[in-house]
Formats: sequence, C-alpha cells, structure tokens
Amino acid sequence: MSTVGSQCRYDSDFSEDSTIPSSESEEEPLYPISKIPTFCLYPPEIPDGRFIWNCPGCDYNIDFLNLSTDIVNQLPDDTKLLLDSKTWTIKDEPIQFLFLTLASEHYKDHLPADIRSAMSPSV
Ligand SMILES: [Zn+2]
Repeated sequence: MSTVGSQCRYDSDFSEDSTIPSSESEEEPLYPISKIPTFCLYPPEIPDGRFIWNCPGCDYNIDFLNLSTDIVNQLPDDTKLLLDSKTWTIKDEPIQFLFLTLASEHYKDHLPADIRSAMSPSV
C-alpha cells in the first residue's frame, strides 16, 4: 500500500487583475485620417522629364534644377556629386530619396498640428 500524496498546485495565481487603474480608459488614438488632406496620403510624383514638383495642395514647388543652397548643403556628398554631374534623372535613387524627403517635410505643413506633434517624437 502506497500513499500518493495529493498536492494541490496553483499554477495560475494571477487571475485577479483588479488592480489596473481605471483611469486608463482612453485607447491609443489612431490618426484621425479624415483630418489629413487626401494628397498627403499618396507618395508625391514627378512626371518623367520634369524636374519641378508642384505641391498638389498649395503653390509650393521644389525645383530640382535650382535647389536652394540650404538644401544642397545638407545633402550627402554622393548626391551633391550626382546633381553636379548634370546626368541625373528624377528616377535616380538618391534623387528620389531627396525628393521624398523634401516632399514629406513639406506635407507636414499641411497636417493639423495635433497630428504633426504625434508624428514627431517630442524630446
Ligand atoms: Zn503644399
């Protein structure tokens, strides 16, 4: 005769979650998409053979043949060299990258302030 010790095991002792602060009722807000101008939701495009981008939402434009020195000074050397070479096209990767960077920077001006602050980390 052997006695099997019956052990009650409580593996899950964390079933009670009653200590969550009830003030956390607000969910993480999604971007209120309806407040974003439609054109900002699509990647900007420059037609083939053109070197100027016109913002669809205002009269701002980026003239790639006449970039401001502020912009050019911030470019990586290879992009500068490429622009200097006069053989680039708007499809070249560094140019596309520059274009998308500049355009999305500008698009931020079209966004409501609360969305803008949600996009940029407030450090
Ligand atoms: Zn604009």
